[in-house]
Amino acid sequence: MDFGVDQKPPSPKRVWPKNLTDRIAFSFTHIGLTGIILFNLFVVLPIYHKPFSFWYNFHLFNGLFIAFGVFTNLYMTILTDSTVKSSEISLPSVLLPGWYYCHNCRMNAPPRSHHCPLCDICVLKRDHHCIFTGNCVGHINHRYFICMSLYLWLGAFYTMMFDFEYFSSVLGGFGPQTWLKMVFPMVAYLLGYCSLHQLGILFVCGVCCMAMFLFTCLMSFQIFFISRGQTQFECKKKIKDYQKNFKQNWVEVLGKRWYLPIFGYFLKSRLPGDGTHFSKTTAFDSNNDHVKFM
Ligand SMILES: [Zn+2]
Ligand SMILES: [Zn+2]
Repeated sequence: MDFGVDQKPPSPKRVWPKNLTDRIAFSFTHIGLTGIILFNLFVVLPIYHKPFSFWYNFHLFNGLFIAFGVFTNLYMTILTDSTVKSSEISLPSVLLPGWYYCHNCRMNAPPRSHHCPLCDICVLKRDHHCIFTGNCVGHINHRYFICMSLYLWLGAFYTMMFDFEYFSSVLGGFGPQTWLKMVFPMVAYLLGYCSLHQLGILFVCGVCCMAMFLFTCLMSFQIFFISRGQTQFECKKKIKDYQKNFKQNWVEVLGKRWYLPIFGYFLKSRLPGDGTHFSKTTAFDSNNDHVKFM
């Protein structure tokens, strides 16, 4: 496989997170995603479509394609080294303008990088620490994170659309009573307002609704930050030094061939830089959309 500067072979990073919160979120993500896939595959899909009929295969293919997009991008987010200790970059021994010395890492760190207390290392163009992958999202793995988020949202949307009829038939419609039962499922069960089977479906339906809401928020915030050319930290601190035009802001995350990463983690799209040097807005010629890639 041909990896560019931005798509080097995964470093031997640990998959299992170091701290407890990350471990719980990481496990919850895997159990939840696997559970939803199996539920749709073995419970809902055979009810509405004869196994291996055209529509069965159609939905099966779509579901597996989305699951592939989620898991491959999730693991690429984890395994791609976006830290200052990445083998792809060499750090200077003298402190350059705009750089800072990290006392924890004991090395000079470039602009836009920040030390993550959970990962205990400086991360290039650090966006945030993701508890569901147990890793920081930074310069190199940000593309995988945004693709994973998009596939998660797509999966939640597809599940809600596909399972709506099933949920509705088991729960007796989506009236105010059903929503109340979804908020207090155990109370509804103990008071005899729903059966054990309905309680299980209430739980699955509640998880799907919650996932849809969370993934919509996650995608919206990511689109907002990236479109403005800011990391989460920079948006919070109102730092606007690196904002460029809309397309260039996305190229900074997805690479020169920005339209490719969404179709597969293995598709090459070179990033404009190695994560140590960033041109400031003042140095950017807004009248010239031509971008020179390093
Ligand atoms: Zn550090
Ligand atoms: Zn981190």
